[in-house]
Amino acid sequence: MDSIEFHFMTKETIRVRFAPSPTGPLHIGGVRTALYNYLFARKHGGKMILRIEDTDQTRFVKGAEEYIIDALSWCGIDFDESIIQGGDFGPYRQSDRKPLYKKRAQELIDNGWAYYAFDTAEELNALRVDAENQGQTFTYSHANRDSLNNSENIGMESSLQKIAEGVPFVIRFKMPEDSELQMNDIIRGEIVVNTSTLDDKILFKSDGMPTYHLANIVDDHLMQISHVIRGEEWLPSLPLHSMLYQAFGWKAPAFAHLPLLLKPKGNGKLSKRDGDKLGFPVFPTQWTNPQTGEKSMGYREEGYFPQAFINMLALLGWNSGTEKEIFSMEELIQSFSLERVNKSGAKFDPEKAKWFNHQYMLAADNKFLAAEFSPVLVEKGIEIQEDKLITIIALVKERATFVKDLWEQSYFFFEAPKVYDAKTVKKRWKEATPAIMRQLVTLLQNVDDFSSATTERLVKEWIQEKEYSMGQVMNAFRLAVVGAGKGPHLFDIIAIIGKEETLTRLINAIENIKK
Ligand code: GLU
Repeated sequence: MDSIEFHFMTKETIRVRFAPSPTGPLHIGGVRTALYNYLFARKHGGKMILRIEDTDQTRFVKGAEEYIIDALSWCGIDFDESIIQGGDFGPYRQSDRKPLYKKRAQELIDNGWAYYAFDTAEELNALRVDAENQGQTFTYSHANRDSLNNSENIGMESSLQKIAEGVPFVIRFKMPEDSELQMNDIIRGEIVVNTSTLDDKILFKSDGMPTYHLANIVDDHLMQISHVIRGEEWLPSLPLHSMLYQAFGWKAPAFAHLPLLLKPKGNGKLSKRDGDKLGFPVFPTQWTNPQTGEKSMGYREEGYFPQAFINMLALLGWNSGTEKEIFSMEELIQSFSLERVNKSGAKFDPEKAKWFNHQYMLAADNKFLAAEFSPVLVEKGIEIQEDKLITIIALVKERATFVKDLWEQSYFFFEAPKVYDAKTVKKRWKEATPAIMRQLVTLLQNVDDFSSATTERLVKEWIQEKEYSMGQVMNAFRLAVVGAGKGPHLFDIIAIIGKEETLTRLINAIENIKK
């Protein structure tokens, strides 16, 4: 048995890539992969590359490439080299690099690491069915390659003749029969695999395109990628990829396979279905299926701040080793390390996602929130001065998770109650209430300084003097002003809506409640 030990290099210049396939929208797991690559690159002053892996034409989805670029840009993840701005190692779309791969596949044939195979889909299918009938699984490997329709079996000369005649062919990797591969993963440590368990994967397809495996390795090499940071689902490909570096005589980059994002409940990978069931998005931005027109929710459209979304994702699978949870992108860059990425999967928690957004809401500049909230008011035909709106937002934002919640928490600043919450009326509006409210009207009519502090002092003094209970007066007063038993400090509300509006609302309540 041979033993092959790979020495993964750490190149001096850090170059990482995010290499999505444009087969649909980007799952948040993919966004996290992009993010960790980005943080790693930025932390080490390296380069971040976007490469589009579109060699599987059967899975190509229109609009997916644009979606990926737009979604990552919303997240604040930018690239140094990509299909947009180019770079010294382009083109950055694999379908634009086609001739490169053919040459490399040929190189592997020439040095004995690959061979031509002519087995038709029908032939392979029959072999699969046969194996299944015997309770086995068919794999194309060292165990049977000498008896199948390929250049290992029929010889190079007849193979070249077939190719000249136009017989369709693929190129397969010749996986050694019994070699122990020792590989290293930054997150998982040493990984040992014996090649006897591996099959002869197709590297080059009959449609003239490389498979993912070949294109990925060729490009990582040519683009001088120093670290491959990608999802755990690619870990099973690591032995083949390591062998390909060996076969080409290239030094392999360092590898880090990130843990899966798991369902909120139960086991398994977080899927779109989990999101649909529990009502949370699994995509960064809204996606419209180009075939069916079906729309899938996005974090952006649900009202998440990109910074909150990114902060939440960063902590799904990585921790700083401290209790700190709120990190700006800059702080993430400072603190990030692949060594602190967990091995085990990270359970996605939709409530925690909301918690993050709420934290960002609390910390957000109120002027910014006012600008975000304004369109809602404009649509309702409400005009308000900016400084007033800023004051209102400051009062209510602790009750809101999203900007869109601000209306529900603040509408009573903009319009008088049209109805009164029935439960609150029952509990708070008693026989004696109208008479007390009438006295309150008289009291407030004589107040000139309608600031929160003054009205609060005067009203409270009057309550004491009359020996009313605080709750008895204040709850009814709130019901009259707000229409319900909610909202921020009542004296702050009346200071903002003003004396005249407060009196009108009190009088309306006296006239309308329980009539
Ligand atoms: N194109 C692969 C994907 O869609 C990239 C895997 C890798 O990073 O090597 O995830």
